[in-house]
Amino acid sequence: MKRPFVTAEQLRQIVEQYPTPFHLYDEAGIRANARRLHKAFAWNPRFREYFAVKATPNPRILQILQEEGCGVDCATLTELLLAEAVGFSGEEIMFSANMTPFEDFSFAHKLGAILNLDDISDIDYFQHLPHIPELVSCRYNPGGKFAISNEIMNTPAEAKYGFTREQLTTGYRRLMDLGVRKFGLHAFLASNTRNNDYYPVLARLLFQTAVELHQETRAEISLINLSGGIGIPYHPDDQPADIAAIGEGVRQAYADILVPAGMEDVAVVTELGRYMLGPYGCLVATAIRKKETYKNYIGLDACAANLMRPAMYGAYHHITIAGKEEWPCDHVYDVVGGLCENNDKFAIDRPLPRIDIGDIVVIHDTGAHGFSMGYNYNGKLRSAELLLRTDGTVELIRRAETPADYFATLNLPIRK
Ligand SMILES: *Cc1c(COP(=O)(O)O)cnc(C)c1O
Repeated sequence: MKRPFVTAEQLRQIVEQYPTPFHLYDEAGIRANARRLHKAFAWNPRFREYFAVKATPNPRILQILQEEGCGVDCATLTELLLAEAVGFSGEEIMFSANMTPFEDFSFAHKLGAILNLDDISDIDYFQHLPHIPELVSCRYNPGGKFAISNEIMNTPAEAKYGFTREQLTTGYRRLMDLGVRKFGLHAFLASNTRNNDYYPVLARLLFQTAVELHQETRAEISLINLSGGIGIPYHPDDQPADIAAIGEGVRQAYADILVPAGMEDVAVVTELGRYMLGPYGCLVATAIRKKETYKNYIGLDACAANLMRPAMYGAYHHITIAGKEEWPCDHVYDVVGGLCENNDKFAIDRPLPRIDIGDIVVIHDTGAHGFSMGYNYNGKLRSAELLLRTDGTVELIRRAETPADYFATLNLPIRK
């Protein structure tokens, strides 16, 4: 059984001050989870988690993760500006390129971020940078299909990211000629994976490739980036990933492959997003409409513009009706938003307790790729973000948009 991290009583107090809908984050949960991750990888003295900013781009969240010893993974100029504003600098910032404009590279370089190149043509930019960085990383795409014990997880050959194996060798050589002295290697091969073997299998592939690249080019490889991809139990029946077992599996791969090759001071780093924040956020909404036609609908004041995952991927998000946690789920509803789009459904044919107008509806696991995927379709405004602090108080960490925000980029009234 899945329970929200706030009680119905806490929620009633919060909605008195902050109108729904809003995303609420759990500081205590975020911190405890970050500590579990660091403990699992403590065997690697240079381990660092670079939180994927795109998952939850809020400075207060980034600050909490910074206090827990994390860096940040950015992919755009705006994400870099956010990281800089929070006080991240130098190698605390990973910059993961992907069809990146020169302007963005140039700013990442200015901040001293680790540049994680996506394509061999990215190297052409280096002659325009004011100096050559000491450390450069490259994203690897092994092509084909990616399987864990015969189960196909993904098809890297269809993914737009990364260098081919041959391009890695050529790329490392070109970078060495330009004066790069240390190298990183990165791959992101599967998303939302709760299988404890994902990181260990990926680590073996990257460690083996690093040993080969070192032998071929004599490049000094100082960093292996396992990227993101560890999943979370969205459904109550899902088994959570066991981070201690994952850390141990990667340690074993390191001992088996890197240590015998004399590469025992390589940093292992991660760029988790979903795993760091997903379970520690929820979308809180109010049931505002009830409709009975060919199906039974509950209309919320939140919609897909606040949480896109169900509409975009058919993703499951668990729902709890605050105060009815113990009630039997003897009603079946489609829980929907108010967009003029029929995929604007948080749940379809979901058994739930009887829902009454005014009930507070908690949509679980929206802490990552939730608010951040939001949009303004139909003139729907982005919601507030709130932080439930460790001491039980609530902090507004982003106000809700107003119509003035929606109109801010337009010339109104229209003049000829
Ligand atoms: C999205 C992304 C991540 C984070 O992915 P999660 O699935 O949230 O762990 C990490 N690295 C890169 C390069 C990404 O694009």
